[in-house]
Amino acid sequence: PVLDANAPIKIQSHRLENITPQQRVELLKRPALKTEQIMDLVRPILSSVKERGDAALLELTEKFDKAKLPNPIRLPPFTNDEVMAKIKPEVKTAIDVAYRNIYAFHKAQKTTFGNKSASEVGGADGKGVDPSSGESAEDGVLEMETMPGVVCRRFARPIERVGLYVPGGSAVLPSTALMLGIPAQVARCPTVVLATPPRPDGSISPEVLYCADKVGATAILCAGGAQAVGAMAYGTESCPKVDKIVGPGNQFVTAAKMLVQNQMDAQVSIDMPAGPSEVLVIADNSADAGFVASDLLSQAEHGPDSQVVLVGIDLTDAKLAEIEREVDAQARALPRVDVVRQAIDKSVTIIVKTREEAIEWSNDYAPEHLILQTERPEELIKGVRNAGSCFVGQWSPESCGDYMSGTNHSLPTAAYARSYSGVSVSTFEKNITSQSLTAEGLKGFGQHVIDLAQCEGLEAHAHAVRIRLQRMQGL
Ligand code: NAD
Repeated sequence: PVLDANAPIKIQSHRLENITPQQRVELLKRPALKTEQIMDLVRPILSSVKERGDAALLELTEKFDKAKLPNPIRLPPFTNDEVMAKIKPEVKTAIDVAYRNIYAFHKAQKTTFGNKSASEVGGADGKGVDPSSGESAEDGVLEMETMPGVVCRRFARPIERVGLYVPGGSAVLPSTALMLGIPAQVARCPTVVLATPPRPDGSISPEVLYCADKVGATAILCAGGAQAVGAMAYGTESCPKVDKIVGPGNQFVTAAKMLVQNQMDAQVSIDMPAGPSEVLVIADNSADAGFVASDLLSQAEHGPDSQVVLVGIDLTDAKLAEIEREVDAQARALPRVDVVRQAIDKSVTIIVKTREEAIEWSNDYAPEHLILQTERPEELIKGVRNAGSCFVGQWSPESCGDYMSGTNHSLPTAAYARSYSGVSVSTFEKNITSQSLTAEGLKGFGQHVIDLAQCEGLEAHAHAVRIRLQRMQGL
């Protein structure tokens, strides 16, 4: 698009009392994406990878990523002294600290580890954690006797083969390699394929390679887009077929994930449908205008389809003007100002009167990221019903959750926060149940089973119990 560099960078604002119910529906919507068109582009890519495996994968990598590779798969170790020398020391340290915090917070999601501190659960030495050390395989077992002699259990097991998509088209994203790889490592998935598009010279960013080693990935698939999703969903000569594909990506990646999960013969599931990133900031007159603007812009720079929403609680005209001035001034200083301008064009400010109205708007919008820059922000959290991840108080910018604090940054967008959670250890697990009955347990409720089975017309079900009850009676 042709952009007017002089035009103000301004979010359109509305007052809640003037918004009609019809307008409210429109304002809560995300910018529309042309999914059907993308699906049509992606279908032939998936078919060719399914039919021709590596040969198609390598051709498509040459076409879309300009990289001519002899082989799409790399095996560990992914780093050596030469690779490590290319990573700036301060970036390596940042990755190590991020790894430590994300590992600790995800490890704590496993019940046996409770609330131990980061140093207690390991991973602080920058080398990564040995997944074979530590806790027993019986983590998270739930067991109860529902009636005398009837014991029911539920236990978690890792998904055996997982594919992590780490985007790499327009930016280098080692943080996403950590956010997907660490929960898979904590869940102890035996096969972890990390897919990421190669650079035109065929290389993968050294920072992503370092993260792949730390999280214990078992292979790197040097491919991106729909072809990478297809290779992991169907398997190729060199790429293992996986059971679940996880991770964000552009619209080709998302469309491919949605298509393969609906193909019965692919037998693959996905984490969630991903859309453009978004943030909703709730601010009152106590908020620092510069902080509010910086949070809005840190989301807007993600891409032209990103959406940012400001919900102002009883903001004075002066405060709103101050925030708007900050948005404009800070945006102009950003290298990605053109992207920001397009995202801001699709964004809105809603001025409400009360804290309750603010939270209600946010719950209806169901933001991926919710930032609270208000007085007593902890109290507002109690009212949050739909959100991917919350950032509470003025010293908690989203950037910290994107990289460092420990929470996951792979989160539901496009109002899917109403029903989906962000990536976590449970994304990489499934739960199996079991039951063990004694003769007494079966006797206790056997007749009830027979009665219900007969009610449903399933005589063989009834018989499986009856034959045992008769055996107990020596019949
Ligand atoms: P990407 O890795 O998602 O996509 C690159 C691939 O797109 C290429 O390898 C190519 O195969 C494919 N492609 C490009 N043009 C194509 C075309 N015309 N036809 C078919 N395939 C084509 O990298 P990206 O494009 O930079 O996108 C990254 C995305 O990931 C962004 O949308 C970003 O917002 C998102 N992201 C989200 C999060 C999150 O947690 N929500 C984190 C990081 C990135």
